[in-house]
Amino acid sequence: SRIRSHIRSHIRTVQDWPQPGVAFRDITPLLSAPASLRLIVDALVARYRDQRVAHFAGLEARGFILAPLLAYELGAGFIPVRKQGKLPYRTLSQSYDLEYGQATLEVHVDACAPGERVVLIDDLIATGGTMLAARTLLERLGGEVLEGGAIIDLPALGGSARLRAAGLPLFTLCDF
Ligand code: 5GP
Repeated sequence: SRIRSHIRSHIRTVQDWPQPGVAFRDITPLLSAPASLRLIVDALVARYRDQRVAHFAGLEARGFILAPLLAYELGAGFIPVRKQGKLPYRTLSQSYDLEYGQATLEVHVDACAPGERVVLIDDLIATGGTMLAARTLLERLGGEVLEGGAIIDLPALGGSARLRAAGLPLFTLCDF
């Protein structure tokens, strides 16, 4: 499709960053071109219009770019899902495994009320660990997590299959 090929041509692949052997998909060219930014935001807005989403939860850091744009356009709220130690008030924490070591995400204990409809937003799905940890956090608050949304899926890294197996729907605009 048009959007898919547009995204592919506006993603920059940076070899060996942040470490040797990694091909990092850099979305900044997609964000800096006005027509590209509009294309991706409009596609995500179309997906979530009429879904009565109460909050878009953005996953630090690149989910913070997209989630507020969707929330503003759709009259919803924004929830920051942050890395450990960044939120000032009382938090819930969820740790998850990385290839080497562990990471921890946090939300404020009052970020959403039980039964509120939440969509999780990030830029990219790799192993799916970040998205699944965020789902656990929002569900611990009683939120109804509808799905995860992102610009890019890297299916070779297994994240989309892992989310499917865990019963979390995933919507992405392009795979690589
Ligand atoms: P996962 O938890 O699915 O393995 O990794 C996804 C998380 O790592 C997302 O928060 C995403 O922003 C970041 N990430 C991992 N690899 C890349 C990449 O190649 N490009 C970008 N833009 N983000 C990545």
